[in-house]
Amino acid sequence: MSDQGYEMQYIKEAFDTNWIAPLGENVNGFERELAEKVGSKAAAALSSGTAAIHLALKAAEVEEGDIVFCPSLTFSATANPIIYQNAIPVFIDSDFETWNMCPKALEEAFEKYPEVKAVIVVHLYGLSADMDKIMKLCKKHNVVVIEDAAESLGGYYKGQHTGTFGDYGIFSFNGNKIITASAGGMLVSNNEEKIAKARFWATQSRDQARHYQHSELGFNYRMSNVVAGIGRGQLKVLNERVEKKKYIYNFYKKELSELEGVEFMPINEWDEPNYWLSSMTLTGKVRPIDIIEALEEDNIESRPVWKPMHLQPFFEKYDFVGEGISEKLFENGVCLPSDTKITDGELKRVVKIIKGVWIE
Ligand SMILES: *Cc1c(COP(=O)(O)O)cnc(C)c1O
Repeated sequence: MSDQGYEMQYIKEAFDTNWIAPLGENVNGFERELAEKVGSKAAAALSSGTAAIHLALKAAEVEEGDIVFCPSLTFSATANPIIYQNAIPVFIDSDFETWNMCPKALEEAFEKYPEVKAVIVVHLYGLSADMDKIMKLCKKHNVVVIEDAAESLGGYYKGQHTGTFGDYGIFSFNGNKIITASAGGMLVSNNEEKIAKARFWATQSRDQARHYQHSELGFNYRMSNVVAGIGRGQLKVLNERVEKKKYIYNFYKKELSELEGVEFMPINEWDEPNYWLSSMTLTGKVRPIDIIEALEEDNIESRPVWKPMHLQPFFEKYDFVGEGISEKLFENGVCLPSDTKITDGELKRVVKIIKGVWIE
């Protein structure tokens, strides 16, 4: 929650108007305000970011047996909806320059699978993928592009908001994201017809009729009006959150980047990230687990970087294109405590513990 309490105002409105339902003024307002914030024509408020990826794939007409490219280095929620559609993921490697989808590996994948139907691009930890290179390749091969911007709300690539380069973009308001509505997601697109269709699917595909009539498979994926109220309040503090996240990143970088083997996540000159999660790689004698365990002793949580999808027991049967850079990022990466409520005192404590690992 924000300190300003904007959320309570919107929630109260929902109660006062008796709209505690998956429709109402907060849902419409949140869609309008988020679309405006990111610079997209239309948005559909949904129950989760995962649901938004699922409906983007449906809107892209991804069906049984279709191939979908997906970065290997991501959270499983990016890939799962490909399986919901009975489609086939092909995992694409990252590069060290962006940690995101490697354009060279993508090009290779196009050669291997020219019949690919859609490409999902992720902006991991709020860092943007190199969209110019990726969009150029995708246009050449005439595929639908879906941007998983669940971690990059408030982040821009060359001045344009992440999630608005492809045909569809998705955002998440889950508890761990830069702003949260307790849960929820948003599908954005400049194609207003497709967004209207996504809203239709998300409310059980009810045809226009007095009785309950369905000519398509339906889903219960709509965001509730109460959740949307929280989201509207949170959206107002997004800029402050990005500022704080950037402060946290710069604090760590200033204190830790001189340590042997440490390299911080890359901030490219064209990137204006939201700095959602401060992460670094370690290639010296200190390993990520040393840091994770040292922090744990003081009850401080830190995490390894996402484990690549092509190494996951559930997904390892699918193809992977690349040189294993995502694997190296996983082996060497560590995500530092980055909550926006963190104080300077706490940051200093984290830094002191980490520096201590080198001295031991
Ligand atoms: C959180 C997240 C999602 C899923 O969002 P939910 O709202 O939790 O369903 C998808 N992709 C990435 C990269 C995420 O971090």
